[in-house]
Amino acid sequence: MEKAVFLDRDGVINELIYHREQGIIDSPFTVSQLRIIDGVPEAIRILRVAGYKVIIVSNQPGVAKKHMSQQIFEAIRRQLIDELGRANTFVDDEFYCLHHPQAVVPDLKVVCDCRKPKPGLIKEAASELGIDLEASWMVGDGLTDIQAGKSAGCRTILIGKEKCEQCHRMEQENAKSDFICENLLQAAFLIKDNTAL
Ligand SMILES: [Mg+2]
Ligand SMILES: [Zn+2]
Repeated sequence: MEKAVFLDRDGVINELIYHREQGIIDSPFTVSQLRIIDGVPEAIRILRVAGYKVIIVSNQPGVAKKHMSQQIFEAIRRQLIDELGRANTFVDDEFYCLHHPQAVVPDLKVVCDCRKPKPGLIKEAASELGIDLEASWMVGDGLTDIQAGKSAGCRTILIGKEKCEQCHRMEQENAKSDFICENLLQAAFLIKDNTAL
């Protein structure tokens, strides 16, 4: 069986965007707002050399909430893949939950099994790609990423700053990550060091 590192997208691979008009911090809503975080291509290369498949698992309710069209969502997705390609790396697969329980778009207003904190996306990826979840990791910048990773049986890393805003909530929710790293590059070194060869 394969082992994998599952990556949340926004705040891990690309920067979160402050949307002034709506007053929210959220995913990029346009292609030009997409910024890959420094060190991410190198981190993905390190993970691959360490023997992991690298798989995006991400809630993307932007279409459901009419922040962007399906076409723009796809264009942002392609731009991400292209930029990683220009940096000589790639992800093995991508799994997105497009649903939201309060969606504006009726077709996407679904209480689904794939939206994190549920482990649906990770489990779907694991069964499609033959992944051993106990040998795998989930890396994310949100409590729901940690919860999804833990319920799927993976080890977990929270991406957060030294003054960890999520730590108190992780304790409250009894969903403490195994590790906290400042960014994906640091997480990749940690995973490599914790991988038996
Ligand atoms: Mg995130
Ligand atoms: Zn879903």
